[in-house]
Amino acid sequence: MGTLQENLPENEGNVELPVPPPMGAVSARQALPAKGSCWYCEKPLDSVRRFCGKDCADSFDEEAEYTR
Ligand SMILES: [Zn+2]
Repeated sequence: MGTLQENLPENEGNVELPVPPPMGAVSARQALPAKGSCWYCEKPLDSVRRFCGKDCADSFDEEAEYTR
C-alpha cells in the first residue's frame, strides 16, 4: 500500500452546523406557544400553560428527543 491518505472534506464554504443548546438551557417545549391545551395529552388548559403537568412536559421532551 502506498500513501493512502484520505482527503476528508472539511468545511466547504458556509456550512452552518446546528449548535446544540447548553445543558439546562431552553428546551424544545419551552419554545412552544401556549395553545390552550396540553401539547402532550390535549387536555384543555388556560391560555398561558403548555402542559397540564410536569409528567406531560417531560414525556413531550423525551419524544422530541427521539423524533428530532
Ligand atoms: Zn397533559
